[in-house]
Amino acid sequence: MGNGILLYAEVTRQSYIHTVFFELANKACELSAKLNNAPVMAVLFTKPGMMEDYKEGFTNSGIDKVFVFEDEKFSKYSTEIYTKLITELVKEIEPDIFLIGATNQGRDLAPRVSSTLKTGLTADCIELDINEKGMLAATRPTFGGQLMATILCKTKPQMATVRPKVFKPAFDINYKNTEFIYRPAENLTDRVELVDFVQGLNDTLNELDSAEIIVAGGKGMKGEEGFKILKELADALGGTVGATRGAVDMGYAPHTIQIGQTGKTVTPKLYIACAISGAIQHTVGITGSEHIFCINNDPNAPIFDVSDTGIVGDVFEVVPKLIEMLKTP
Ligand SMILES: Cc1cc2nc3c(=O)[nH]c(=O)nc-3n(C[C@H](O)[C@H](O)[C@H](O)COP(=O)(O)OP(=O)(O)OC[C@H]3O[C@@H](n4cnc5c(N)ncnc54)[C@H](O)[C@@H]3O)c2cc1C
Repeated sequence: MGNGILLYAEVTRQSYIHTVFFELANKACELSAKLNNAPVMAVLFTKPGMMEDYKEGFTNSGIDKVFVFEDEKFSKYSTEIYTKLITELVKEIEPDIFLIGATNQGRDLAPRVSSTLKTGLTADCIELDINEKGMLAATRPTFGGQLMATILCKTKPQMATVRPKVFKPAFDINYKNTEFIYRPAENLTDRVELVDFVQGLNDTLNELDSAEIIVAGGKGMKGEEGFKILKELADALGGTVGATRGAVDMGYAPHTIQIGQTGKTVTPKLYIACAISGAIQHTVGITGSEHIFCINNDPNAPIFDVSDTGIVGDVFEVVPKLIEMLKTP
């Protein structure tokens, strides 16, 4: 058994633990089983009075130990203090692996920690595994998304960030009698102050994050009119609309609903891909879907390789028929 896997338990501005932590916890339990049940640990920064709310989340997701830094100053993320305390903790407990969610906070924190510790970091991973030598094998898109690269880190801890929604959380499966270890965090000052968080114009709550059914369109939808048909199908199914970058670049759909490597990662129960070729930069964002159904007039389109079912046909004939069927009582 090694020194274990450490996870960063990000607390959001709304004071809940980010769902990406539970996704990482589930994956870490799987990796731990391949490392002779190495312990799965977490590090958490919180304002006082929150721990009673948080504890159950850790015990229900298979975490052996949580290192808690509790102080009023942790009501806001602090780039410098978090880096300092995490690097000190890592030097002390020497985890083999350290995983962080690729959120705004995680993308700020992970490179600072890895450069301070002089260790490697594989960013924006879409798969994690343990190889035959017991090393973390971290897979991420590379060369502009043309290839998938599996990267090994020769130094420890082996660090990786993972995008939210790449893995599934598994509450109440991996129960552990978690140990909570409180660490002192006094007398630390930060040269950087987080003054405010300004929401971007398009940074509204995105329906794609929670949608159970997504009807997505590609360049083959030929225009905004084509997307109106997809909206009609999505409404009839109680779902929402997504798009490829091909469609977004053509101005058929807004960037906020782009799915894929440079868009959103989605995990609906049903993903309906309409006139989408199935480029890898798109499909990396949809592989967590429970069922993929596609409509494409080219029987050789790669989207058929990742779909559970599909129809070879013209979207402008098939989709209206589906809408008609759904609307017929
Ligand atoms: C660095 C990088 C990042 C990228 N990130 C993303 C990303 O996040 N998301 C993303 O989607 N792409 C991304 N791309 C682009 C990606 O490589 C593809 O170009 C894009 O996904 C193609 O979009 P598409 O499937 O809509 O268009 P196309 O590849 O042009 O496919 C259109 C499909 O529609 C079919 N079709 C046409 N007419 C009809 C019809 N009447 N009925 C049925 N089928 C029809 C065609 O047979 C074809 O298969 C990225 C590329 C790079 C280099």
